[in-house]
Amino acid sequence: MAKIQMKTPLVEMDGDEMTRILWQMIKDELILPYVDLKTEYYDLGMKHRDETDDQVTVDAANATLKYGVGVKCATITPNADRVKEYGLKEMYKSPNGTIRAILDGTVFRAPIAVKGVEPNVKSWKKPITLARHAYGDVYKNTEMRIPGPGRAELVFTGADGKETRKTIFDFESEGIIQGLYNTVPSITSFARCCFEYALSTRQDLWFGAKDTISKTYDAEFRDVFQKVYDEEYASRFQAEGITYFYTLIDDAVARVMKSEGGFIWACKNYDGDVMSDMVSSACGSLALMTSVLVSPKGVFEYEAAHGTVQRHYYKHLKGEETSTNPVATIFAWTGAFRKRGELDQLPELAEFADRLERATLQAIESGYMTKDLTLLTTLTEVHPLNTEDFIHKIAENL
Ligand code: NAP
Ligand code: MG
Repeated sequence: MAKIQMKTPLVEMDGDEMTRILWQMIKDELILPYVDLKTEYYDLGMKHRDETDDQVTVDAANATLKYGVGVKCATITPNADRVKEYGLKEMYKSPNGTIRAILDGTVFRAPIAVKGVEPNVKSWKKPITLARHAYGDVYKNTEMRIPGPGRAELVFTGADGKETRKTIFDFESEGIIQGLYNTVPSITSFARCCFEYALSTRQDLWFGAKDTISKTYDAEFRDVFQKVYDEEYASRFQAEGITYFYTLIDDAVARVMKSEGGFIWACKNYDGDVMSDMVSSACGSLALMTSVLVSPKGVFEYEAAHGTVQRHYYKHLKGEETSTNPVATIFAWTGAFRKRGELDQLPELAEFADRLERATLQAIESGYMTKDLTLLTTLTEVHPLNTEDFIHKIAENL
């Protein structure tokens, strides 16, 4: 059988620990036999990031801007232990944070639907994709403990030196205060990413905020979304037969729990942090969550939502058998192939992505799965497999 030819290379970002091992196995067994793989390879493994003073992460992000589609393996975000473990020159920033800043993107996470691993919410028939605005708000707050009686004020000093002042509270006791901010360009860019991704996946878009209580701050989010929709997307949404829907966050939560799924739920930063944990837990496993970074410039970077599965890696290093689930990492590759296929008009590449996904789901649906899933599945005949054998099983289906 002739291998599928590619036109434009994918930006391939290799990573760390157990997922780096999975990366190689997936390429060797599930991709290279079928695709004449063209990638521009960046090694984002911890050691190479350190050798290049993290320049490789910046280069990979710029290459993604240039080519339009990237696929990334999970990577270590160093903490003090990692600095010691790898003898790092410094505690580098999160690679995902660096890439997100360069692409100006929003992360969309969606569970992979598979028969035999049913969501805990019975009405959910289709995956819910969660989009989190990963900028500002409580994550960039300024906080203060108030030692005792006094006045807390909000002061803005304009570039022209003009001051605007509002009283927050006249304290009569000890207390606490917190200052938050966001910017109109960041909210606008978030809105564009959400509308773009809704169009690209042909799903409705929901957005919720607390505009009844926060009449300036949250109301600005609501108004920016509405303005971007009306001016740039309304006619394209109508043409695709999809809708944009704004509602109060409380109402959004209530409706989500009663919905069938199959839409994109855009959330402010904190709401997205909390609600993505809720949606992913309700759907079973972190190893079944996909993640795609979408830039308002129409650039896409695919990855698994989980980390490098450190605990399994240390078992692997000791020569012990592991049962790490490769599904989300496989779906990062298929997401990237499907998008590349669309952009380059290579239907056979997009079809390969569909076939690889079907082969993967078919393995699980016929009872062959890694251990994490055996604990969740509703299937009765189950064959727990180690990492290698599970990948062999997918290769066999393929
Ligand atoms: P993790 O890699 O997501 O794993 C946490 C636990 O979840 C694992 O120990 C395992 O549970 C389970 N798990 C996650 N993925 C699994 C899979 N594919 N198959 C089976 N089980 C899976 O998080 P972590 O161990 O806290 O973090 C390790 C490193 O990953 C850290 O250095 C962190 O910085 C990095 N990280 C990277 C990304 C990214 O690049 N996107 C995201 C998050 C974390 P059991 O041990 O109980 O089997
Ligand atoms: Mg969280």
